[in-house]
Formats: sequence, structure tokens, C-alpha cells
Amino acid sequence: MAHRQPELDLSPEVSDEVRQTTCYMCACRCGINVHMKGGRVAYIEGNRDHPVNRGVLCAKGSAGIMQHNAPARLRAPLKRVGPRGSGQFEEITWDEALDIAAGWLAPLRKTAPEKLAFFTGRDQSQSFTSH
Ligand code: SF4
Repeated sequence: MAHRQPELDLSPEVSDEVRQTTCYMCACRCGINVHMKGGRVAYIEGNRDHPVNRGVLCAKGSAGIMQHNAPARLRAPLKRVGPRGSGQFEEITWDEALDIAAGWLAPLRKTAPEKLAFFTGRDQSQSFTSH
């Protein structure tokens, strides 16, 4: 008696949409094709037509998918509610977070702005600091 194998889909569709953009995992800015499935990032590949990387994608670029899909991804501002170092936080709204930050910084701005120093890395933080 012949043994029947269940039919396997050996080449499932990776995505239902591909968006072309630029990798921001480091300063090289390689071109990437981001495969979306059901509105979520499903797979990232290098863009062969991009002059910087010509289709090559490094491991860090591939890991960019976790910036979107990681369970630990921050989705809202967190406010510490326990003692420092206790790891106790609660989610707050952006309006609350901005009010808190403005409450800390406004008196400094009025009295001694030279006491404020601000340091950023070279990547995503530039969206806060560039003109
Ligand atoms: S693919 Fe790698 S080298 Fe290219 S921008 Fe992303 S992290 Fe940098």
C-alpha cells in the first residue's frame, strides 16, 4: 500500500508587498527591499539596483526586522514608577512624556541654559537634532 505524503507548500509567498527604502542600522545607508506580509515586516533583502550595496545585506541589516517585530520593542514612552533600578515602569502618552520633559527643562532654560548638555549618536537621533 502506497504511503501518501501530505502536500507541502515548498515555496510559500514571502510577501504580499515590497517596499524599497534605506537601511538605518548603521551609517552606510544600504538600499533594501522590505517584504511585507499582512502589514508586518516579513523579510528584508538587499536592493540589487542600489549603488551603495548592490544587493548585499549584512547581518546587522538583516536583523533590522527585529526593530519592528521584537516583543521588547518600545511602543510608548515609559515612566519609572518604582525606585531607580527596580525596573518598574508604566506606559504613558506622548503628551504626558513631553509635559514631564518640558517641566524639567523649562526652569533650566529660564535660569541657566548653559547647564544643559545634549549628546546623540549619529543615526536615528539625528531626527531630533538636525535642521
Ligand atoms: S545593511 Fe549593514 S552595512 Fe548596510 S546600512 Fe544596514 S547595517 Fe549598515
